[in-house]
Amino acid sequence: MNSHRIAVIPGDGIGLEVIEAGKRVLEVLAEDNTDVTFDFVDFDWSSERYLKTGQYIPDGGIEELKTFDAIYFGAVGSEKVPDHISLWDLRLKICQGFDQYANVRPARVFPGITSRLQQAEDIDWVIIRENSEGEYSGNGGRVHQGLPEEVGTEVSIFTRKGIERIHRFAFEMAQSRPRKHLTLVTKSNAQRHGMVLWDEIFFEVAKDYPDVTITRELVDAITTRMVLKPHMLDVIVATNLHADIISDLAAALSGSLGIAPTANLNPEGTFPSMFEPIHGSAFDITGKGIANPVGAFWTAVMMLEHLGETALAKRLMTAIEEVVASGLHAPDLGGSATTREITDAVCERVRAIR
Ligand code: NAD
Ligand code: MN
Repeated sequence: MNSHRIAVIPGDGIGLEVIEAGKRVLEVLAEDNTDVTFDFVDFDWSSERYLKTGQYIPDGGIEELKTFDAIYFGAVGSEKVPDHISLWDLRLKICQGFDQYANVRPARVFPGITSRLQQAEDIDWVIIRENSEGEYSGNGGRVHQGLPEEVGTEVSIFTRKGIERIHRFAFEMAQSRPRKHLTLVTKSNAQRHGMVLWDEIFFEVAKDYPDVTITRELVDAITTRMVLKPHMLDVIVATNLHADIISDLAAALSGSLGIAPTANLNPEGTFPSMFEPIHGSAFDITGKGIANPVGAFWTAVMMLEHLGETALAKRLMTAIEEVVASGLHAPDLGGSATTREITDAVCERVRAIR
């Protein structure tokens, strides 16, 4: 019997709606299975909690999370709290506290989804985002605040250790895929210190993976590549900021932000990893019951794979694909289905596929 203890942090806005849907689907997956149970523990770490108590994560919260097998996260962000506070006090505290340095973001086009891109069926990418340092190290400062000569700095920190481990992770990901291709993304023409170090270490690490073919792109050039020659890309490795941006582009190209998942991994398994849809709390559709839950479902697939439940992961992925292919789409994909209708349909398919 595999009993998986999962910490559930729905967060804010549609995070609550899609994570509720995701939990339902996971429960249906386990209902007839005598080998697997999910033990969900809910945490109300949200902007609402912050506004009431001044804290997203209560004292000792990170310690408590440590005992879980995985974290299923919704989204954080509220109109009443500045975004840099919600992001740093909740999501980044977990990512950095648990050294989840590898952020994995798959993108592909499901049959039944119309992409704005002509060669959309060529999209089958995995973007590997360095998730622990770089542009989001939190370094910098402000002097002469409010004065005309005010200066703000945002200092990126790149370490040999941080760069080498993310490149190794990316090469291993590339090696595990049929095409075995890896694209390095930096901006080492204009940024000549940390970015050049990224390039150098990439080519050092590449020597250990002779079966992986490699190309190098500048971050501005990769955006045109993604749109015009999507078939040329397979696995992409990029810094925290660059990968953040290009993975939103990847999600939009494959149909909608509402379907894309991500995993924040601590590959060594010293700490729990965290799984979340890439979208935010979506103020504009919160409470309307029309959030697309597919991103949260695909996220659950990644979490199942991580937990070693490969058969369940496959079954859920097939169910999602069948429902999407049937044309049952939320408004973000041009349809009129509600979160509930899509969730019901996926639960029904999960029950049908045994
Ligand atoms: P967003 O992802 O919340 O929304 C962008 C657009 O995509 C909106 O029009 C929204 O309705 C739509 N959308 C997103 N997810 C959808 C879904 N599942 N179904 C249908 N439509 C969907 O990004 P934003 O508007 O820039 O940010 C809103 C808040 O979320 C901000 O506070 C921001 O900081 C936060 N945010 C959090 C995360 C996170 O928790 N990881 C990520 C991005 C943004
Ligand atoms: Mn982002």
